[in-house]
Amino acid sequence: MVKNIAVIRGDGIGPEIIKEALKVLDRVAEIFEHKFNYIDVDMGGCAIDKYGDPLPQAELDKCLASDSVLLGAVGGNKWNDVPGHMRPEKGLLRLRAGMGVYSNNRPAKIWPQLADASPLKKEIVDKGIDFIIVRELIGGIYFGEHKTVDGTATDVLVYSEAEIERIGRIGFETAQKRNKKLCSVEKSNVLDSSRLWKNVMHRLASEYPDVELTDMLVDNCAMQIVKNPSQFDVIVTENMFGDILSDEASQITGSIGMIPSSSLGATSCGLYEPIHGSAPDIAGLDVANPIGTILAAAMMLRYSFDMPTEADAIENAVSAFLDSGYRTADILSGDSTKKVGCSRCGDIIASFI
Ligand code: NAD
Repeated sequence: MVKNIAVIRGDGIGPEIIKEALKVLDRVAEIFEHKFNYIDVDMGGCAIDKYGDPLPQAELDKCLASDSVLLGAVGGNKWNDVPGHMRPEKGLLRLRAGMGVYSNNRPAKIWPQLADASPLKKEIVDKGIDFIIVRELIGGIYFGEHKTVDGTATDVLVYSEAEIERIGRIGFETAQKRNKKLCSVEKSNVLDSSRLWKNVMHRLASEYPDVELTDMLVDNCAMQIVKNPSQFDVIVTENMFGDILSDEASQITGSIGMIPSSSLGATSCGLYEPIHGSAPDIAGLDVANPIGTILAAAMMLRYSFDMPTEADAIENAVSAFLDSGYRTADILSGDSTKKVGCSRCGDIIASFI
């Protein structure tokens, strides 16, 4: 298969971690006989330096014309003092809006080899943590009217059936590609918007008979994520609940350098990136952990290109890397002879494909 991938290296460690992800993708292409064309896109601080704009329209157009977008990270101290509308992160917001990605998917997966890195008790971690939170990204209370009048503040939470349905479908389809369990999280004992949410999810369920749908109140879900995370496969929820729960979930898995995310909209063209930022403190030192970005590339193969075997191959190669005892500095806890830099980490994972 031939796929055109827009590649945003960005700032800080962005170019280093992207280089390793492309190394791994090249190996996948070679073995599985695909062709991945990489289209370089400037976004973030580097685009401000080059064009005076964090995401010029021509660069956004390259993303929109591609089959998917792989992003490193943007931002850094150098651009801290530029005006708000010019900040590197504005490029990212413009990209998300331009691509219309309304669904943010963030896995919470603990690698058994890194179980010690979790703040949870060993007996909980030993049962396994491997779930995805599908969060509605461009609706709900963050996008309703905000106002403060005479010392009273109001934030409006609005969801239409159509908005709930489109994110609900992503939840069901994600579950279909995993263990076929979907947990819909809301606050239907209090909120009208949540009662509508729940109704729409149950209406959709009849179209996905292979997926087991359950409901959970958000306060209970926050508790269950730390008490019994192994029960979850896919969680689907609205914007603010998802914002909070996905940060909680990322913390129970240990290292920020290991976690990928995807953002999807109406088309198969998605945005894939690690969850961390540009880590200016370690940029250029060849010590960054590229695994979050490599796993983001695996998500791209699984969710945008419908290449589950190839995605499995990348995830298995990451697992083999960890099994072999290799560690980048951020996940090193014992044998320092197994410490590898960013580039060597990518070499080894590519060799395990
Ligand atoms: P950060 O995620 O960049 O770094 C936080 C800490 O984690 C740092 O100590 C860093 O060295 C470490 N770290 C992050 N990624 C790592 C990796 N792959 N391997 C090893 N260690 C890693 O967050 P920050 O320092 O708050 O932000 C730095 C810049 O990144 C800011 O300009 C911020 O706006 C930007 N940012 C960008 C994105 C994005 O592009 N999606 C997301 C968050 C922050």
